[in-house]
Amino acid sequence: MIKILANDGIDPIGKELLEKAGFQVDTETIPQDQLAEALKNYDAITVRSATKVRKELIDAVPNIKLIGRGGVGMDNIDVEYARSQGVAVVNTPAASSLSVAELVFSHLFTGIRFLQDANRKMPVEGATQFNNLKKAYAKGTELSGKTIGIIGFGRIGRATAKVALGLGMNVLAYDLYPSESEIILEFQGGKSVSIPIKTVSLDEVIAGSDFLSLHTPFAAKPILGAEEFAKMKNGVGIVNCSRGGTIDEPALIEALNSGKVAFAGLDVFDNEPTPLAEILTHPKISLTPHIGASTNEAQERIGTELATLIIEHFKK
Ligand code: NAD
Repeated sequence: MIKILANDGIDPIGKELLEKAGFQVDTETIPQDQLAEALKNYDAITVRSATKVRKELIDAVPNIKLIGRGGVGMDNIDVEYARSQGVAVVNTPAASSLSVAELVFSHLFTGIRFLQDANRKMPVEGATQFNNLKKAYAKGTELSGKTIGIIGFGRIGRATAKVALGLGMNVLAYDLYPSESEIILEFQGGKSVSIPIKTVSLDEVIAGSDFLSLHTPFAAKPILGAEEFAKMKNGVGIVNCSRGGTIDEPALIEALNSGKVAFAGLDVFDNEPTPLAEILTHPKISLTPHIGASTNEAQERIGTELATLIIEHFKK
């Protein structure tokens, strides 16, 4: 029987599919330093973003024939090395796009009405400072009619554009690879509208947007740093649901303190799982602990897709 360790868990639907196909699936989470020993009893491992599958681990367990990543980013796996050793590496790139895009708007709706600050202060000061807090949050804004700049116009960038267009926002997009594409909005009753989006330069996106959202892979050098913040509109809102490292965090804190950036919504951080204290406590930052794909719907899609890929691989 083929044995799979789902070290970062797998949706029950995916587990059931694998078990019905005759696989054994263990969902116990083995600590990173004990994985080399534990994996000697398995044929495959699945991970999300927490477990690292580096060269040393791959070398230690030549019995492992497949590494499955539930989700998109493969920066926690030495993919090229694994493949060079004949280990298959599969992932489920499209399954979480909509959930990540919707989280972008959770952060945007939070930032434009100061919810990140209100949720921290209301339990402490709400009873005595209600009217002062009301005054502090008097200058909210609307998203409709504003421009969102999307940096990285792949699956999640496009899903974000679709939600933005549905809210009546304008979209500016930049990608390393320029493109012209159609975003299709579907409405109740089966009607649909196709909206063409042509990518523009990074400078145009940075200078022309009221809100910016990052959707690139991990970048060795931050895409948004002090130089880019200086070119942005005053009072811009920034969301990062991509990967830590894409924003220069100290420069972001400075831009928030100066008022250049009105708010930030962060799902990803340089130092996961221990982000900077200044980030965690900043009144203008809305925080989530890397949960972009953490919806029931995305996890079901990820589990189903991953199970299907594993079954296809071993039944070949
Ligand atoms: P994708 O590959 O479909 O799109 C990424 C796009 O970024 C591509 O079009 C690529 O050309 C572009 N790109 C790469 N480097 C760039 C750069 N320096 N400047 C501009 N564009 C650049 O990937 P995706 O599925 O849209 O995922 C995007 C990001 O979201 C990834 O980093 C992924 O790891 C992350 N993600 C986060 C979560 C979460 O939980 N927060 C969940 C899923 C994915």
